[in-house]
Amino acid sequence: MNAPTPNQAFSAARQREVAAALDRILPDGSVLFNEEDTRPYECDGLTAYRQLPMVVALPQTEEQVIAILKACRELQVPIVPRGAGTGLSGGAMPIADGVVLSTARFNRILKLDPYARTAVVQPGVRNLAISEAASAHGLYYAPDPSSQIACSIGGNVAENSGGVHCLKYGLTVHNVLKVRMVTTEGEVVELGGESLDAPGLDLLAVFIGSEGMLGVVTEVTVKLVPKPQLARVIMASFDDVAKGGDAVANVIAAGIIPAGLEMMDKTSSRMVEPFVNAGYDTDAEAILLCESDGTPEEVEDEIGRMAEVLRASGATAIAVSENEAERLKFWSGRKNAFPAAGRISPDYYCMDGTIPRKQLGLVLNSIADMEQRFGLRCANVFHAGDGNLHPLILFDANQPGEFERAEAFGAAILELCVEVGGTITGEHGVGIEKINSMCVQFAPEEREAFFAVKRAFDPAFLLNPDKAIPSLHRCAEYGKMHVQRGLVKFPDLPRF
Ligand SMILES: Cc1cc2nc3c(=O)[nH]c(=O)nc-3n(C[C@H](O)[C@H](O)[C@H](O)COP(=O)(O)OP(=O)(O)OC[C@H]3O[C@@H](n4cnc5c(N)ncnc54)[C@H](O)[C@@H]3O)c2cc1C
Repeated sequence: MNAPTPNQAFSAARQREVAAALDRILPDGSVLFNEEDTRPYECDGLTAYRQLPMVVALPQTEEQVIAILKACRELQVPIVPRGAGTGLSGGAMPIADGVVLSTARFNRILKLDPYARTAVVQPGVRNLAISEAASAHGLYYAPDPSSQIACSIGGNVAENSGGVHCLKYGLTVHNVLKVRMVTTEGEVVELGGESLDAPGLDLLAVFIGSEGMLGVVTEVTVKLVPKPQLARVIMASFDDVAKGGDAVANVIAAGIIPAGLEMMDKTSSRMVEPFVNAGYDTDAEAILLCESDGTPEEVEDEIGRMAEVLRASGATAIAVSENEAERLKFWSGRKNAFPAAGRISPDYYCMDGTIPRKQLGLVLNSIADMEQRFGLRCANVFHAGDGNLHPLILFDANQPGEFERAEAFGAAILELCVEVGGTITGEHGVGIEKINSMCVQFAPEEREAFFAVKRAFDPAFLLNPDKAIPSLHRCAEYGKMHVQRGLVKFPDLPRF
């Protein structure tokens, strides 16, 4: 072992003690503590928030994970599990005096059973790698976050990730049969089972989406579904975002569940068109992409019915992909929207909230008003069928005050989501990013119930502490900072 780098957040002796304990468990080169080695782990996809970890551990087996967790418990060191670090809410951001447990090397597909249509994989396996492996059997793993080329299944389980196809095929929670995980006590627990339902309380559903706070995932059994024979997509233009929003609600109300139903506003289509040349109508206020998949007969029937609803909802133009290349071209802009934001703005802040579909028009118009109020532009490109918004707030971090305004803009959007009956998260999780917004959505009693679940799995409060569930104190502070319409939130709480 080399001499560890001293760091202001903890003593060199403490770092040495923890690194030495982990070094006894793991193979050479699996414990990182020098600053140049730990720097890549200082943030996830939410790069505005950074923290260098004290130590990084890179296990490759479940036995090693158990030993790491036992050692950390003995030494009372907080642990932050980490997959690929693509999370957008700071869930994998390190804790200053803690250990990051990275699953980057814990990444093998253990079993693929085409008859049972399941795959058993280690947590560090990339989402897309599962579909690539299943492809030879005509199968794939349905949940498809736009980050699927990089993000890991362990991270997907922790965030209950979604994607374009989740409207029809369900989120991670609907596509995972079983999870093996290790608690901070070093106990291995299996949640769920091989069949569709498991006896007892549904702890698998509690665990999926728990943001690395209840246990470390060591194995995941996923469902695989047959690849559809055919997929086609409609691109529909609207001269008003509210009409586009109503069209989304009308498609679902007509009893159609498209394989994907996404919306882009004019800012987004103008941002992305020069980047991908997808043929988007850049004069339209909103574009909808509505996909149908299945047998050729099913697709023809569904495309016809969707086109009818879209026309009746006021679509000004409709184009239908004629072949696979054209279908991929139509999707290319949607898939590349985040990187394209870099063409028109030095920085962007991707929000994630969910609203009832029927409120889409109202909320999009309110966001347009907020652009004036906060003096920042916002592009909207999102999973409209799920009512899952992804406003991209454009700002320049080098301009004093712009990041703070972007944060306030984001918080205002989330509050609006709650006001119209929605939630402050869709698929990116709470992490540290939306922890204050949890104070808006949940009453103290509800937050205490969340803490009770956490305590049941992690009594020592060592696993990803201070993420996702805000303390009473934090909410009191946020209530103080956040006086709305002359009213202080949480008036019953003591003010310091
Ligand atoms: C360009 C881009 C597009 C995106 N598009 C989507 C999208 O369409 N849909 C969507 O849902 N998300 C999307 N995301 C967000 C992100 O990719 C997902 O949240 C993803 O599931 C994170 O996986 P990860 O492996 O990177 O996890 P990380 O970022 O490393 O971690 C995420 C959370 O999971 C926990 N965790 C990781 N591994 C484990 C484990 N083994 N055991 C317990 N906890 C663990 C961490 O502690 C953290 O709380 C996008 C991100 C980017 C950058």
